[in-house]
Amino acid sequence: METVTSIVEMKRAAGSLRREGRTVAFVPTMGALHEGHLSLIREADARADVVVVSVFVNPTQFGPGEDFDTYQRDLKRDSELAEAAGCDIMFAPEVDDMYPVGSVTQVCVSGLTGKLCGAVRPGHFDGVCTVVAKLFGIVRPHLAVFGQKDGQQVAVIERMVADLDMSVEIVRSPTIREPDGLAMSSRNANLSGVERRDAAVLFESLKHVVSRYGAGERNVERVVSEMREMIEARETTEIQYITAVDASTLEDVDELGESVMVALAVFVGTTRLIDNVVLGAE
Ligand code: AMP
Repeated sequence: METVTSIVEMKRAAGSLRREGRTVAFVPTMGALHEGHLSLIREADARADVVVVSVFVNPTQFGPGEDFDTYQRDLKRDSELAEAAGCDIMFAPEVDDMYPVGSVTQVCVSGLTGKLCGAVRPGHFDGVCTVVAKLFGIVRPHLAVFGQKDGQQVAVIERMVADLDMSVEIVRSPTIREPDGLAMSSRNANLSGVERRDAAVLFESLKHVVSRYGAGERNVERVVSEMREMIEARETTEIQYITAVDASTLEDVDELGESVMVALAVFVGTTRLIDNVVLGAE
């Protein structure tokens, strides 16, 4: 595996791969890699000749008071894990190179970004879309793999790619979970013992919806209120939102149905966790 930190060098490598006719799959990450990220890398490896993984803790997608400064950074560990999962090129640019003095352009996907996490993290998706658009321009992948774990993010990226006629296929990869169902996240490491036990209720509540849906329930309000009850019964949890939307358009839905994403954001102690299920897909 090759590690590239220079944008110019990454562009050169991407140009050569294109000229050689090799397909490139791309997995953008912020590092602190875990099984969730590795599953995306394996998926990328199965679909293309060359896998590029980026590790870039993108400052513009963090709000004031969020964990940009304390975000786990360990490129050596990430490189070893990525390589074992099938990464061929690790791209780890510097912040100052990605955002040189004078850069002012932002990619803003309106509508979809004003709800769910976007409603409580203003500017977050502008940061995400801008950096992903830049990374696509540098790496020029044929396809890019994103996790369903961040269900709004992948829907927003799909919209951006369609609206800007970007020639990259977006692949959604399933959420990888701990044995008790908690979605893997670098932020799980911040949970205390009791918080970690309480956090399992997030997926329990989502599984409850899947089973109620399987039994014929279609009423959104009823299942959301049942989820609230389950989550609020745990001592360390505080719900930020629970919602049911179309998994692609993120539009609110009147009824549960195929391709409806039930999504939540919950503080467990001071750690904010998100998770979702897409009905009919689980
Ligand atoms: P991040 O490093 O948190 O920006 O995530 C990079 C990519 O990994 C995104 O596409 C995430 O959706 C994906 N990802 C993070 N956690 C998981 C997980 N538990 N299962 C599947 N994909 C994940």
